Amino acid sequence: MLTSEDKILVTGGAGYIGSHTIIELLASRSAHVVSVDSLVNSSHAVFDRIERITGKRVVNHHVDLCDRSAVEKLFAAEPDIKGVIHFAALKSVPESTNYPGRYYRNNIISLLNVLDACQTHGIPNFIFSSSCSVYGNIDVMPVTETTPLQRAESPYAYTKQVGERIVDDHVLAGAGMRAISLRYFNPAGAHGSGLNGEDPTNAPSSLVPVITRTASGRIPMMHVHGTDYPTRDGSCIRDYVHVCDIADAHILALERAGSGAMEAMHEIINLGTGKGVSVLEAIATFEEVSGRGLNYELGPRRSGDVVAVYSDTTLSERLLGWKARRDLHEMMRSAWAWEQHLATESVR
Ligand code: NAD
Repeated sequence: MLTSEDKILVTGGAGYIGSHTIIELLASRSAHVVSVDSLVNSSHAVFDRIERITGKRVVNHHVDLCDRSAVEKLFAAEPDIKGVIHFAALKSVPESTNYPGRYYRNNIISLLNVLDACQTHGIPNFIFSSSCSVYGNIDVMPVTETTPLQRAESPYAYTKQVGERIVDDHVLAGAGMRAISLRYFNPAGAHGSGLNGEDPTNAPSSLVPVITRTASGRIPMMHVHGTDYPTRDGSCIRDYVHVCDIADAHILALERAGSGAMEAMHEIINLGTGKGVSVLEAIATFEEVSGRGLNYELGPRRSGDVVAVYSDTTLSERLLGWKARRDLHEMMRSAWAWEQHLATESVR
């Protein structure tokens, strides 16, 4: 069990999943959390929101993790780190297909620099943010961790396939580190208070923030990308999982890595609910929860998207004792509360 003595470095701590994980680390474990984030896709306001929810101020090192000497200085300035959760990455599938070089450079070099520093400083526990996009287009559902990986459908997805391999190689090279890669399905929703949620500085490409921004009028109209897929209503199917459930899983993964209970030095675990939801079903759920009709248009397929993907949950239940607790209604309710709260933040 993590305690207030344990210093955890969260890379990408100002981001969507990083900030929710920090809130959980502070609220449920009182851990000593340090963040590093270049704010390339987030803002410093996140740390005010974290403080408002938890009463605690988190230090953020404003560092680009691709800058190797800055990373070395950061780790030298933060001794005795017990574990690193590496969230920092660029994450937009469509943007990665347009700017592959930006994605390969950012996601791979930052990972290498962080792993090198972990090795140099003997950091024992490492959690890597992977993604269900590593599976590519597969026919057999639900997806288990042993499902063979297909060709990555986007440069982003390939950075995660390669990222897992890089983590594997570092562990095998005897870095003395235990690692867990968590393959998230589709994180969605916001903190139950509605005071923290997804707030990217780049245009969002995930479905739920596009839905909530359309409902609030920040986006005039949204597009459903593809209605001719071989699915029950023609739109893509995803496994939406609440961001606070994802945050809980990171804490359990850190504790598992630190407990000596691991079955291999690098474990790979899916984080999903096991339920597939289509884009049109997600829109209908939002409309029901919010009481608002969404302005959307049916459009062509988007490059890089896979048809359907949802997770088998057996391994996460067995190894982490983790099961998603919050449903799609709660994801939509909290995301909508967050969107409405953001409007009041920006007029303050
Ligand atoms: P996010 O963009 O909200 O957060 C990532 C954070 O990393 C941002 O605050 C950004 O400023 C920071 N960052 C990026 N590159 C950096 C660099 N070189 N140096 C320092 N900071 C840097 O994204 P998120 O949704 O919180 O995702 C976190 C992780 O989870 C990412 O690795 C992402 O690929 C992975 N993931 C996300 C999803 C999702 O749908 N949100 C799904 C699967 C996997």
